[in-house]
Amino acid sequence: MNNLEFLYRQIIMDHYKNPRNKGLKGYNHVHLHNPSCGDDVIVEAKVENDVIQEINHTGSGCAICCSSTSVMSEVLAGKTTQQALDTIQDFYHLVKGEPVQNEEALGDALVYQGVSQFPARYKCAVLAWKALEQLLKGEQDE
Ligand code: ZN
Repeated sequence: MNNLEFLYRQIIMDHYKNPRNKGLKGYNHVHLHNPSCGDDVIVEAKVENDVIQEINHTGSGCAICCSSTSVMSEVLAGKTTQQALDTIQDFYHLVKGEPVQNEEALGDALVYQGVSQFPARYKCAVLAWKALEQLLKGEQDE
């Protein structure tokens, strides 16, 4: 393991053990399940004037899924809806090992580039990002 991989692992474990923005407050939400791993997440967001004010989440799952949910809630908060949708697409490219448009916008989410070596974990990494994407596109669960 080189230093960069070590740093990445530290960030992932930190978010897994101390998830940011965990706990729902009652905003519109989307609930997604990843049967191949058992990951289960609910993501909610408060959007005002087309800007994401807050992203909260709850759920359970593996370290990749839970940490990625926490990182997502920090990285995408404060962005406009369109910026967030663009960054979500970039995240999908990143974890597939494909080139990304805007590396800077991904921030700490860049640590998941290593997931591209483990295609079976793709769904774990993107679950919460897909939930927010659906939410921003106007789909929501009752
Ligand atoms: Zn998982």
